[in-house]
Parts: sequence; C-alpha cells; structure tokens
Amino acid sequence: MSQKTWDQEPHPARLEERLDNGVVRCHLSPRNCKIRPGQHGFCMVRANRDGRLVTLNYGRSVHATEETIETEAVFHYAPGARILSMGNVGCMLNCDYCHNWKTSQARYVEDKDIYHYTPEQVVDIALRHDIKVISWTYNDPVVWHEFVVETAALAKAAGLVNLFKSAFFISGEAIEELLPVIDIFSVSIKSLDPKYYRKITKGWLEPVLEGTEQVFRAGKHVEVSTLMVTDLSDDEKTAREMATFVGERLSPDVPTHFVRFHPDYKMTDTIRTPVDRLERARKIALDMGLHHVYLGNVYDTESTNTWCRQCGRLQVTRYGLNADMAGLDADGSCVSCGTRAPIVQLPGARRRARVPEPPAAERVEVAHFDWHGDVRALHVQVRNTADAPVRAYHRRYGDPAADQGWEVIDLAPQESFRYIAAKSTADEAGVQVAVPPQCTSSLHQVFDRAHFPTVEAGAGTLNDDISPLPLFQPRTRR
Ligand code: SF4
Repeated sequence: MSQKTWDQEPHPARLEERLDNGVVRCHLSPRNCKIRPGQHGFCMVRANRDGRLVTLNYGRSVHATEETIETEAVFHYAPGARILSMGNVGCMLNCDYCHNWKTSQARYVEDKDIYHYTPEQVVDIALRHDIKVISWTYNDPVVWHEFVVETAALAKAAGLVNLFKSAFFISGEAIEELLPVIDIFSVSIKSLDPKYYRKITKGWLEPVLEGTEQVFRAGKHVEVSTLMVTDLSDDEKTAREMATFVGERLSPDVPTHFVRFHPDYKMTDTIRTPVDRLERARKIALDMGLHHVYLGNVYDTESTNTWCRQCGRLQVTRYGLNADMAGLDADGSCVSCGTRAPIVQLPGARRRARVPEPPAAERVEVAHFDWHGDVRALHVQVRNTADAPVRAYHRRYGDPAADQGWEVIDLAPQESFRYIAAKSTADEAGVQVAVPPQCTSSLHQVFDRAHFPTVEAGAGTLNDDISPLPLFQPRTRR
C-alpha cells in the first residue's frame, strides 16, 4: 500500500487538556482519549504532536456534493432544498455495518478520494451554486470539529443555514461550540439499548441521548432517526423505546425516521430490513403518540409523506430523495384549511434552472444510467477543464409526466462539481447526462441515504441487495 499524504498537515485542535509528560486528553467525544506523544486517538484523525493535540483532517474532505435535504433525514425543514454535503475522514465510532466505512475508518482512506478545501472555498461553492444549506455529514462531522465550527460561522455570516447530520457521540463542551453556528441537527440514534451501543458501535448510548436533548433544549431544529438493522434492531422493542425517548425527553412533534438498512462493511451476511418491520415500527410510534414518523430508504410507500394534522390534506409527497410541497402555499400553510404546517420554509432553496434541450454545441458527450434494483440515486461528477465557464446538463427520463427537461449546472473555469440525481417517480427509468467537450464526467452509484460512493459506476458490485462499494477486506496495518 502506498504512503498516504492526506493526514500530513496537522492543525491545532480545540478541546485539548494537557497532562503530565507531554500527554494530552481530547475532550471532543465522550471517549476522552488520553494520547501519548506520537500517538492517535480512537478516531485516527486526532493525534499528539510534540505534546499538543492536533487534528489531521482539517480541510480534508470527500468531494463537496450537491444533494437534497431529504438525504439527511430532514423532512420538516425546506422540503426539496438543495444542500451542499461536506464529509471528511475518521469517526469516533466503528459500527459493524457502517455505510461509509471507506471514509469513516481512516485506515481505509485513499488519497484519490480526498480533496482540500478552505472555509472560504466551501462557502463560495454554496453561494455560486445558489445552495442555501451546508450539510456536515457522511462519515461523521464530530471529528471535523475545528473545520466545521470555523466554516459554519463563515457560512452563517453569508446568510447560509448549517445542518449537522451525525451519530452525535460528542461531548457537551463540543456541542456548546456548535450551538452558535448550527441550525439543524439530524441525529442518528442507533438503538436505545446500551449493550447494543457497546457491541455494535463501540460507543455508548447515554451521551448520544443527552446531546440530543441538549440541542433540542437550545431551541434548534431537531430530527432523529434509527437504522433498523435486520434481526438486530428492527424489532418492536426498538420502536417502542425510540417513541418513549422522543415523546418523553424531546417532544412528540420531533420528526422521527425509521431507516432501512443494507448489508455493508463487516455485516454482509444478512438481508435488507424487511419493509413490513419498518411499517410496524412506524405504526407503534404513531400509536404511542408521536406526530411525525417516517420511513427512510423505502420507496413506493405513503409512509414518507406529510399530511395536515388539522384537515388531513396531503401536504408533502416524497419519493426517495425528492419532495413536492403540492399541498402547501408559499407561506407554508395548508392549501385546504390554512393551518400552518410544522415545516420550516426557506425561500428560494429549491430548483435549478431547466431548459427543454441543451444547445447542440454543448451536448457532445451523453451518458445514460438506468436505475436498477435498489440503486435509485447517482452522484454525477463533472469537471470543466477550460479556462472559461461552461454548462453541464442532466435530465431524468422514462416518465413523461415527470419529465421537466434538462437541469443546468453552471461550472466556473476549471471547476469540479458533484451532484446527486435521484429517482423521483416509480416509473422513471434513469438519468441522462450531457456535457460540452471541455468537460469530463463520471458516475457513482449511491446506495441509500447519506452514502458517499468512492468508486465509479461499474467498479462496484451490481448485486441488488449489497452495497455497490467494493466489499470490505480487513487490513491490519495502516
Ligand atoms: S474525537 Fe473522540 S475518538 Fe477522537 S481523539 Fe477525541 S476523544 Fe478520542
């Protein structure tokens, strides 16, 4: 294996405690790692260099990617909003089924997948593409603390909204540093069973619950989700305990998501969560008094939609990672009874420009990708190799009723941009990409929500029930 370089520029870390003999303690996650000179913490991206705590992933990211807010299990804030997803390297947990192990487990990260960004560049990308929300996501933003806090502050000053999608195994002190800059917290609570946390995630439960309460009490927009792992956490007990936690320690109004699992990482000898178990969990939580309970990574179900609690009118329909607010007016009130929906509106956060057809001169290379099995979303990466601006295009095809033409992606000189195209109706067949001759492009299959694929379409498996990522091969040395 070649020598890595992404972790060779240490940056001073916050939340450091200096101990005797050059040892430091990290107070970023509840693990409170005690780190000797030259050693790493559990996450592998914080280290002791000459008696000081440093972070090794400052500004180191997977490719910045435009997605939709539904990708982050956020349904009650600007449905359909385009977000700029930023993910990094490392994690304070090591879940046996991790969907992003190629980036969360630092020892498997390859330089080819890592890009260098400054806080100013991240904000500039969002502003240039008219994206209103920056999402700190994927592997886990907790271990990117310094870069997140600094960039989120800059983004906020520029009028942008910050979303933090996390397993939230984080200290109270670190949360206090996030509160001034983060607007939305989407917390993934893996289970309500302390033994499950220890065994499957290598973390522990109570700090996650306390942290979620802390941000909720601070008045932030909070949504929670649980990955229902087949035969491990897709039972009635998990649904009941989740509903009890949300109802008693947060509020019945907090949107709650039961999310379908797919086999991955060390847990491939199993199947996707049966959908009837997810529907059962949703019914239990609704019967126990929660007001907004949804399914994730499930298609062709009504359990992803939102209805008016006053008159029952359908307000938001969702298909996969797409949303349509057909039952709400511009102010976010029900078009039937006028009742204000419990959904935050963010004006101007939705659509890109569209054209019926790209100009012939700009439509030289066309790629097609057909949806297959459970692969119903795609990252499209386009790079402008010219010193002048160009436009790239894509459209979803196969369903004439939903075909709204070609979306336009404006690219600055030499810009590389990545965005998601996700199936939006049951009848849609796939995606078509058109770029001018000055552009290169690549396609990357996305398997389920908040998954960052590191391989191109065709390089992974095409097994409908297993991640298209290369299968996990254990490595013992870094
Ligand atoms: S972030 Fe957590 S896992 Fe990483 S060094 Fe700090 S305490 Fe340890």
